[in-house]
Amino acid sequence: MAQQRDKSADQMKLWKESRGSQKPDVLTTGGGNPISDKLNILTVGPRGPLLVQDVAFTDEMAHFDRERIPERVVHAKGAGAFGYFEVTHDITRFTKARVFEYVGKRTPLAVRFSTVAGEAGSADTVRDPRGFAVKMYTEDGNWDLTGNNTPIFFIRDAMLFPSFIHSQKRNPQTHLKDPDMVWDFWALRPESLHQVSFLFSDRGLPDGHRHMNGYGSHTFKLINAKGEAVYCKFHYKTDQGIKNLTVEEANRLAASDPDYGIHDLYEAIANGNYPSWTFYIQVMTFEQAEKFRFNPFDLTKIWPHGEYPLIPVGKMVLNRNPVNYFAEVEQLAFDPSNMPPGIEPSPDKMLQGRLFSYPDTHRHRLGANYLQIPVNCPYKARVANYQRDGPMCFSDNQGGAPNYYPNSFSAPENQPQVREHRFHVSGDVSRYNSSDDDNVTQVRDFYTKVLNEEERKRLCENIAGHLKGAQLFIQKRAVKNFSDVHPDYGARIQALLDKYNAEGPKKKTVKTYTQHTSYPTGNDKANL
Ligand code: NDP
Repeated sequence: MAQQRDKSADQMKLWKESRGSQKPDVLTTGGGNPISDKLNILTVGPRGPLLVQDVAFTDEMAHFDRERIPERVVHAKGAGAFGYFEVTHDITRFTKARVFEYVGKRTPLAVRFSTVAGEAGSADTVRDPRGFAVKMYTEDGNWDLTGNNTPIFFIRDAMLFPSFIHSQKRNPQTHLKDPDMVWDFWALRPESLHQVSFLFSDRGLPDGHRHMNGYGSHTFKLINAKGEAVYCKFHYKTDQGIKNLTVEEANRLAASDPDYGIHDLYEAIANGNYPSWTFYIQVMTFEQAEKFRFNPFDLTKIWPHGEYPLIPVGKMVLNRNPVNYFAEVEQLAFDPSNMPPGIEPSPDKMLQGRLFSYPDTHRHRLGANYLQIPVNCPYKARVANYQRDGPMCFSDNQGGAPNYYPNSFSAPENQPQVREHRFHVSGDVSRYNSSDDDNVTQVRDFYTKVLNEEERKRLCENIAGHLKGAQLFIQKRAVKNFSDVHPDYGARIQALLDKYNAEGPKKKTVKTYTQHTSYPTGNDKANL
């Protein structure tokens, strides 16, 4: 009887079949010298010792010792795929970016979906925001929209980013996830309420990567051919429909198929069931931005659809799996500062911080020449500049072209036609405290208008199921914040906490996890 096997499970068989009647390649060292015997080490007599001159052994072992590059500090666990973006609606009135040049235009792209807080081997089905990063290879260089599956984020000031991430990762002494750290930070920073409410809602457990929306999240600027600018937000809506896991199903999968997200995406593409997303923009004029009742550059807030409707633009289709995970996904480096002419940053403080931190981390992880790695290289454009040398330069290093500017020898020239949009700013230079910049109005809308009663109930249960692990004074502070959003929100969470606090921690033998999560449950310590 024929075995029923996934395409991913049959990858080895399919690779062999793809070679047809081709004979096996000659086995070589890294230097290309043929190897006679890859099974037996070179020794003095049958019982050893071994010889240093066994370069077939030392060549491989030395390379093996160096196989790992640092995992990403955030978004370490991920799945990648390739495909294209196709324009379906004209938006050249807003932007001259060539990716949107004409209806029907296709641009190749790479995507990486990820969890945020877990390490490279952690489960895909944990409660955590999902990274949704898209790299488009345009004729004017790469455009990286390094977004998430939520249109907002926990903080609005980039200064807080390292501390925020530390609080969600491991305790410096115990090396355990620590509910005190998680909730202490969130409760001290109520601007996190909006994203925390999204995270603990049903959409905090997406069913794989195909059934969730993506958002550029930040506010960007679009510039048209006449030099006119508007602010904009980017949205990818899943064509597969939103689908979430229940807490129980996510827990089960975390144990039985921890790579569920990678697996699901790989299978869909391998079977020709190509996932797609419809791409929209929201547009706000500078005049509207001046008058908007919220800071339009605040990453903890959305632009209401009713006032700034979604404008359809195109479609993203994923139709190719990576040929090699390390080469094409582990080394895939997204950088919000990759923006072709027609797309520019807004003053969003988080975006401005990321313009520095993303390329900085890639230079650390992958090296100063990470943009020469094939999956990162802007292959639809020709790179010509005055950057030279550095570790692992594996292009021709721009040959004999002059390496200084200006010069008299016909080397790469300025392109005044792509000069950045000129804008005016004024104000006193200072460190402005934005911690109380209306942290509740949009969360209240979410709680009262977007969620139905069942969803509200689950949201409060999910929150209390985590918050119970934090000390009482932290619980109290957090509940006060939820009550500021809506008295019912805080009261429900407090009632559940009262119940849990009265019960005390569960005994070791009892399976007490309410949900697998990147964030610790209150009973983690009791379960060890
Ligand atoms: P609308 O009433 O026009 O739409 C509600 C939005 O909420 C839709 O985008 C919907 O996504 C999304 N949504 C539904 N359930 C959840 C969930 N559990 N987690 C996250 N998002 C969810 O919204 P408005 O624009 O008037 O904004 C009202 C509130 O909706 C906001 O304060 C915000 O909390 C939330 N929201 C707004 C978004 C925006 O960009 N305007 C985006 C996402 C949420 P879908 O259409 O895919 O079902």
